[in-house]
Amino acid sequence: MAQPTLRFLGATGTVTGSKFLLETGGTRILVDCGLFQGLKELRQRNWEPLPVPPAEIDAVVVTHAHIDHSGYLPRLVRGGFEGPIFCTPATRELLGLLLPDSGYLQEEEARYANKEGYSKHKPALPLYTKEDAQHTLTHLRTLDFDREVELVPGIRAAFHPTGHILGAAFAVLDFEGRRLAVSGDLGGYDKDLMRGPAPLPKGMHYVLAESTYGSKRGADPSVPDQLGATMVPVLERGGVVVIPAFAVGRTSVLLYHIRRMQDRGAFPDVPVIVDSPMAVDSAKIYQRYRHEHNLQLEDAGGSGSLLNPRQTRFVRKPEESKRLNELDGPAVIISASGMMTGGRILHHVRTRVSDPRNLILLVGYQAEGTRGRALLEGKRELKMFGEFVPVKAQVAAIQGMSAHGDSDDVVAWLRTADPAPRKVFLVHGEAGGLRAMSERIVSELGFSCHTPKYLEAVEL
Ligand SMILES: [Zn+2]
Repeated sequence: MAQPTLRFLGATGTVTGSKFLLETGGTRILVDCGLFQGLKELRQRNWEPLPVPPAEIDAVVVTHAHIDHSGYLPRLVRGGFEGPIFCTPATRELLGLLLPDSGYLQEEEARYANKEGYSKHKPALPLYTKEDAQHTLTHLRTLDFDREVELVPGIRAAFHPTGHILGAAFAVLDFEGRRLAVSGDLGGYDKDLMRGPAPLPKGMHYVLAESTYGSKRGADPSVPDQLGATMVPVLERGGVVVIPAFAVGRTSVLLYHIRRMQDRGAFPDVPVIVDSPMAVDSAKIYQRYRHEHNLQLEDAGGSGSLLNPRQTRFVRKPEESKRLNELDGPAVIISASGMMTGGRILHHVRTRVSDPRNLILLVGYQAEGTRGRALLEGKRELKMFGEFVPVKAQVAAIQGMSAHGDSDDVVAWLRTADPAPRKVFLVHGEAGGLRAMSERIVSELGFSCHTPKYLEAVEL
């Protein structure tokens, strides 16, 4: 019989599009089913057919709810996939928010492109719709952490926590006497919100490890100190601080830090607006799963909560969101998406980015090709809604707020492997991070390490 093979259909040399196809004994399992984001040549891959028809994939295992790991699912189902999609219970709840929102954004983008006529395709079509996303949710099957399930005859799988976001897991697959661990995204061992990754179970033959922050190590300055130092001067000069933040988890941590600073008298009482219906809904899910993380979010959705800044306002309606463009500073506006690839954050940035009194504050990873990365690299104009907008506002980035661990965390997690795996495959990183990570794994751990290319297949 043919050797089991693993094909890398995404997250090779990039942090998006995670998709790993395991083929063994005539069965096909896809681990993660993410959307490519950022650079145009990456986004175009979302439109190309997969190397195997979706109908010939037997089951999908999703490590966590982030769109770069889950956002291709509706396209897969639309393309004929009929099997089960396994995830943890919290991931299922978060997918219930994220996938329909992603479908809505796809439709919105197509509508906008048609209206403004800036797409080469006439008419521009969405990759999938909100309805496709809702239908996809009916395929989800939950599997609790640390339990095993038979995905299909002969292939077993289990999830273990990675501490990245709520519900985030690494997946362990057992097949034909082999054990494979797929890290998904790893959190850090020393974070405010989530606990660190669980150790690898014994006897892993192969490990796929992420390397988003592969070239970053060492402790960061305290997050509240950085937030205070960057935000307070802007608010004192009457400016608006715009924070693109991923709605799931990070927004709650930001609110928590601002409130603690206010309680110490180190942060002014200014309006703090959370313009993201998803942030409120996801805070409620975090609250229900409080046994899985450190931050206790009693009444997290309410503006009277002791965990929220004093003048917090949650905005749901689109009209109310647009009215915020008239708001005078000082104020803080938190909105999604975190890398400015879409969502309400775009109109906030467009309104505020040309005034030097304001601050655009980046708090998470910014992938190549995203507007967030362009700002981080000091670009003086941003392409938005088909036009170039000059950047005159201050831009700053906070270190240590990412939901990802750094290079030290990945090495510490890999060190839990016992005995040494036959091979570590490095994925979910950009060139510099992958190179640095690979050097450490070889020199410090003595493991054999390979960085696969897009569509590469390896025998296991
Ligand atoms: Zn993630």
